Amino acid sequence: RTAQEALDRLTVDVADWPEQGVTFKDITPVLADHHAFSAIITALAAAGRDDHGSVVVDKVVGMEARGFILAAPVALALGVGFVPIRKAGKLPRATHAVSYALEYGEATLEVHQDGIAPGERVLMVDDVLATGGTVDATRQLVEACGGIATGVAVLMELSFLDPRRLTGDLPVSTLLTI
Ligand code: IMP
Repeated sequence: RTAQEALDRLTVDVADWPEQGVTFKDITPVLADHHAFSAIITALAAAGRDDHGSVVVDKVVGMEARGFILAAPVALALGVGFVPIRKAGKLPRATHAVSYALEYGEATLEVHQDGIAPGERVLMVDDVLATGGTVDATRQLVEACGGIATGVAVLMELSFLDPRRLTGDLPVSTLLTI
């Protein structure tokens, strides 16, 4: 598959960043290549369709900040709305908030309370699934709005960090497993 090939070829491993012992997957060269960017968006969007190609989600959410870059074009490709999941203190109106542990550090994520309507089916999109904490927190935010988290689509899953421990029975679509 071209999306996987391009992702594998263009992603840069950065040793000891943002701290000692962490190897950071830098996907910015993938975004800078039009053909690669287009291919990964098409591949991620497949997670929002059934086997017949029908769109089966009502919203796409993206997690700040790299998730925004991927989730917004996925939402446009599916013909549904985009909702940002933001770090604490960035959204101007009433929010739901969830705090969680990161691969490195701790964080709080928020969503506008009216960003997702009760019963809406929501696809979550991010670049890297590491410990699964970000996706788990995002699922809690979707559910706090009354939405249904139907799955997560990521470019890469760092399986050695065992993210499925936190994502549980949530369907995970990944282009690469590392
Ligand atoms: P988790 O919450 O531990 O699954 O970490 C996932 C979050 O951290 C995502 O929002 C990613 O954007 C970010 N992240 C963790 N590791 C990497 C990496 O190696 N490259 C890019 N982003 C990463």
